[in-house]
Amino acid sequence: MNDEFISLTIGQQKNIALIAHDGKKKEMLDWCDWNKEILSKHFLYGTGTTARMITDRTNLPVRAYNSGPLGGDQQVGAKIVEGVIDFIVFFSDPLTAQPHDTDVKALLRIALVYDIPIATNRASADFMITSPLMNEEYEHQVINFNRTVEQRLKSL
Ligand code: PGA
Repeated sequence: MNDEFISLTIGQQKNIALIAHDGKKKEMLDWCDWNKEILSKHFLYGTGTTARMITDRTNLPVRAYNSGPLGGDQQVGAKIVEGVIDFIVFFSDPLTAQPHDTDVKALLRIALVYDIPIATNRASADFMITSPLMNEEYEHQVINFNRTVEQRLKSL
């Protein structure tokens, strides 16, 4: 049996993390407002400031982690590893240097490792949020870390 990957399920109700850099916050708020009805069917999380601004604007409940530059992106990354967050909309600003650039890279990387859908601009977010898969369970293959640890124990 091939146990290199394990099959994980992204549920019908997604656990969506919403993050926007300062230069993209207005775009994020407009996007959340526009997609309010769809977003209300899912569980929402976000970095501190983004989460608060979305709730103030839309009344959607958004569970807030720390502000991004203070570790919020890392918290979202940890929640991916724990299997809590399974969908990300992250409007990152390509024209402004970020003090927490390394954290942003780490989040993008861990989303790739766990095959998490991640939209980093509005057009991608529009395509993703209107996908029929938003209303369905989705099974995907994720690297089997237990097996990887077993192999490393044998090989090191
Ligand atoms: P913020 O963090 O929502 O607290 O502004 C976002 C970020 O810059 O990563």
